[in-house]
Amino acid sequence: MQSGDIGGPVASAGVSARAAALRAEIDHHAYRYYALDAPEISDEAYDALVRELEGIEAAHPQLITPDSPTQRVGVAPSVAFAPVRHAARMYSLDNAMSLDELDAWFDRLEPDVLERGCAFVAELKIDGSALALTYEGGSLVKAATRGDGTTGEDITVNIRTVKSVPLRMRDEALPAAAAPAQGALFGDNAGGDASGVWPAIEVRGEVFMPKASFERLNTEQEEAGQTPFANPRNAAAGSVRQKDPAMTAARDLATFIYQVTDPRPLHLGSQSEALAWLRAAGFRVNPDIKTCGTRELVKQFCLAAIGKRHDLPYEIDGVVIKVDSFAMQDELGFTAKAPRWAIAFKFPPEEKTTVLREIRVQVGRTGALTPLAEFDPVLVAGSTIARATLHNQDEVRRKDVRIGDTIIVRKAGDVIPEVVGPVIGLRPADAAPWSMPAECPSCGGPVWRPEGEVVSRCTNVACPAQRWERLGHWAGRGALDIEGLGYEIIGRLIESGLVKDVSDFYTLTQDSFADLDLGRVKKDGTAVRLGAVMAAKILANVEASKDRPLARVVFGLGIRHVGSTVAEQLATTFRSLDALRAAGDEEIASADQVGPAIAASVVAFLGNPDNVAVVERLRTVGVRLSDEGRVAEALPATLAGLTFVLTGGLERFTREEATARLKARGAKVSGSVSAKTSFVVAGTDAGSKLTHAIDLGVTVLDETALVRVIETGEPPASEAS
Ligand code: NAD
Repeated sequence: MQSGDIGGPVASAGVSARAAALRAEIDHHAYRYYALDAPEISDEAYDALVRELEGIEAAHPQLITPDSPTQRVGVAPSVAFAPVRHAARMYSLDNAMSLDELDAWFDRLEPDVLERGCAFVAELKIDGSALALTYEGGSLVKAATRGDGTTGEDITVNIRTVKSVPLRMRDEALPAAAAPAQGALFGDNAGGDASGVWPAIEVRGEVFMPKASFERLNTEQEEAGQTPFANPRNAAAGSVRQKDPAMTAARDLATFIYQVTDPRPLHLGSQSEALAWLRAAGFRVNPDIKTCGTRELVKQFCLAAIGKRHDLPYEIDGVVIKVDSFAMQDELGFTAKAPRWAIAFKFPPEEKTTVLREIRVQVGRTGALTPLAEFDPVLVAGSTIARATLHNQDEVRRKDVRIGDTIIVRKAGDVIPEVVGPVIGLRPADAAPWSMPAECPSCGGPVWRPEGEVVSRCTNVACPAQRWERLGHWAGRGALDIEGLGYEIIGRLIESGLVKDVSDFYTLTQDSFADLDLGRVKKDGTAVRLGAVMAAKILANVEASKDRPLARVVFGLGIRHVGSTVAEQLATTFRSLDALRAAGDEEIASADQVGPAIAASVVAFLGNPDNVAVVERLRTVGVRLSDEGRVAEALPATLAGLTFVLTGGLERFTREEATARLKARGAKVSGSVSAKTSFVVAGTDAGSKLTHAIDLGVTVLDETALVRVIETGEPPASEAS
């Protein structure tokens, strides 16, 4: 990229076009959100679009337009309401999307403020609609929305119906000797005096709809055949902007007030004093507010807020941190859009946007074809993801994701990458709907989707991709565990015709590997081949695998529905493959944890003549197919060196069971989270250990991931960034 002048590096046409497309898309969603109270996408997705635009504008400042959504607050007020020009601008807030970004904000304050022993006020960020209330002579005279920050909408008649808004302030809060106020708002009658006259006062806060009221309202909306509101925030914003105040009155709105616009006439020196005064004056002030002397205390407040957000009766979307001292606030001032003395710590975004580049079809060992979304790598909840399963054709259709789409991605249960859906407005004109190929991408064989099933399958049993998956599964960790025999080498062995089924592994010799081309080239242009030492090691490991416990063999065969737990159960019950083969459906189904579907699958597999032939060849080459006479063997310590912390409730195991099974694989299980923790497993209602893990950047697993670890013995991918 060329280096530019003061305006930053020259932007390519692609970058300018992307910025323009983002601006149009953000404007569209801002209008839907602020003006119509009917958003089409989640706040996280919206924030991700804004962030992307901010990133482009930071790298290419010449692309910033005066009307860019990054330079503005809200949208212009509706003409349906009388305009109210705000005496002092109503700002938005800058965001910190992580504790690191919060730290960066603290760092920006230094040395001017921090070194002077500055305190902060941490308040919950109420997810409602901003509200300005003006009192004259102690009585409510005006209520306004934020609008575009300069001009709001007059919603006085509506707000008068909201019970927590005092129509008159409490005289106990009357300043003993109010100083004369300055500024247009306060005019001639501004400034009380010792005679006890209320100065004109404006306060600001949030009008919101409690969760329970929101649920009730949406049920009513649906019953009346009307569109339900997307979230309580939009319901609140829509309710205060009703034509008929009776409608607002029926909506059960509430308020929290958090600001005195001009504190001078009230002799208030800090935000904490202002909050105390607001309480005394009769306003409803949130009880969860803390004055913090250090940034560590602020962070603790943020983490605690994450932990309790779902338990509160109203929605919050973050924590607002404000410099307490008004004198320091004045020194810090404002940017075009927000105060420098405050920041909104937003809860870790669970959703991000990225671009879908490809939908690749994977062929599983049973021939199942799975579409896999491949997208530009993106950081979500602490780790980078670049692909996610789309499960099947119906799922792709339902989500209507197309190659080239900007898509919203998230991590389900904080672990598994998931495509939520496309941002339709950013869809390229030529993006076509996706369909499952009619031929297997691996062997070109026909693809068949049995009626009533969602999974499409390659029907060619000789399909190399299926064969590859089957052979790789046999050699894998949870099965015969043949170290060194990975998918890459297996692929080459299949291509060179040396292995067709799992019994062929046991006929390999040093010569088989002698000329095995690994399909890669060295720097000097010659092919990478498998060395003799490596070949000897693999052969030794193949030999050692002949003596694995029966459960490994049963699992390794790759019978549909037979995972490692079921395989263990079958091995314990039947003790040998011959006994299992001789058993009927019912006998198999009566084994613990084995139902009729699994039993039918086992019977079908072991009755198939091709599979019988493979089993017989395994016997011939010396693979042990029985546990008779075997002394119980310890599991390989595949999790050695890893420390797990379990928190919250688990459904599949008791804590003790999960602990024992992790330990059986060599893992440590600890009771507390520290920087040394490798993984935190978060079950239902996980508490402070989870928040601590997020803070430390420790990878969090859900129960599904834990089951996978226990069943396969494979360590989870460490996803901490
Ligand atoms: P903001 O909501 O992120 O932050 C500013 C607002 O926070 C203030 O105006 C104030 O009303 C509020 N607030 C709540 N508690 C507060 C407290 N204790 N102290 C001070 N202020 C407090 O900023 P914004 O500019 O109003 O709106 C941006 C938000 O709206 C983002 O979260 C964005 O995702 C969302 N949005 C979503 C869509 C969509 O399509 N989903 C579209 C536009 C905007």
